[in-house]
Amino acid sequence: MKDPATQEITKASQKVGNSTEDLKVFKACNREWWGAVSEEDWNDWRWQLKNRIQRLSQLESFVSQLSEEERNGALLSGSKLALGITPHFATLMDPSDSACPIRRQVVPNIEETQTSSWEMADPCGEDSHSPVSGIVHRYPDRVLFLVTDRCASYCRYCTRSRLVSNASGYDFHPNLDRQLDYIRKTPQIRDVLLSGGDPLLLSDSKLEFLLKELRSIPHVEFVRIGSRIPIFLPQRITESFCEMLRKFHPLFISIHCNHPAELTLEVKLALTRLADAGVPLGNQSVLLKGVNDDVDVMKVLIHKLLMCRVRPYYLYQCDLIAGSSHLRTSVRKGLEIMDQLRGHTTGYGIPQYVIDAPGGGGKVPVNPEYILSHNDERLVIRNFEGKIFEYPEIPDTCSEKKSCQNISEAELV
Ligand code: SF4
Repeated sequence: MKDPATQEITKASQKVGNSTEDLKVFKACNREWWGAVSEEDWNDWRWQLKNRIQRLSQLESFVSQLSEEERNGALLSGSKLALGITPHFATLMDPSDSACPIRRQVVPNIEETQTSSWEMADPCGEDSHSPVSGIVHRYPDRVLFLVTDRCASYCRYCTRSRLVSNASGYDFHPNLDRQLDYIRKTPQIRDVLLSGGDPLLLSDSKLEFLLKELRSIPHVEFVRIGSRIPIFLPQRITESFCEMLRKFHPLFISIHCNHPAELTLEVKLALTRLADAGVPLGNQSVLLKGVNDDVDVMKVLIHKLLMCRVRPYYLYQCDLIAGSSHLRTSVRKGLEIMDQLRGHTTGYGIPQYVIDAPGGGGKVPVNPEYILSHNDERLVIRNFEGKIFEYPEIPDTCSEKKSCQNISEAELV
């Protein structure tokens, strides 16, 4: 017997709309274009992968009104970051609107060839913090473990686009034995984040092998997986896969969802399965122009995530990846959105807004200003309504603060 979520999915498909009210609804994806595909094939993640949109001709037959910028972008994508869109995710695109927030994330655009002087191929300085190929060791007690360069679909703003899809010839070949060996020999590593590419593209048996190996290392306390698969390819989250994950707790998964329309009924079912398998779920969003740089859209996104038992975790300022300026918003806009969330909705749902400091400085939290002044005697603070309050300070616990004006040029990285 089908579970209730599956029954909901098999209801008539609905087209994704754009009004805020419409975005609140969990809809089944609209399979009209793939109407001839059997239910069995559609729900098979390997069929979804095999039938991805990867060429301009496929994209054009699906998106009737492709803009010149998109067409030219798709022509050039083979030498920068590949074009790849799963049928599931493609059903969420509006074929008649190039400003569609789903389309902006995965359809290449010629603007990707414009690089500003601030932008970099490796904005987070990962290659310079890599003791072994495929391991990024930037923070003392944890590492990034890159297991593949493949993703189900390719995000046009991907911070690792130098590597993923191998379109620009980076030629990443993970050597799992060497990577595991580094972790075994480095006792300060207590937390491992599997990433890539997308680790959930590995077969169940390969992922099981990796998790088993990591769990056998006494100093590894905690394993996380970063994945956009539940969003791009929810069919991958099968019951047997979730059963396998159960054996490796504590195991956390960070998903990556940027817009409420991505949270379909199929995605909700996948997230329910993961949560039911005891996997704590967090979400990382990237703030993107024309996608989620709007407080109402962001609010619907975080509410829907909470309903899927996913805690909104980080909101990233878009990294300075080469060719991403058309998707980047101002930090001012990000702060404005955060200011309109805090106090205005469930605190548990409010992500931490961060900038990954260019060149490898790590994540830096950025927050709207709530402390208006602070001295040995008191703090003056404001609340979400702009009301001002005082709070007494305990003088002997005050640490000396350095004002921005005192930072010398030499201290700037
Ligand atoms: S899924 Fe993640 S790694 Fe893959 S292209 Fe998107 S952002 Fe990059």
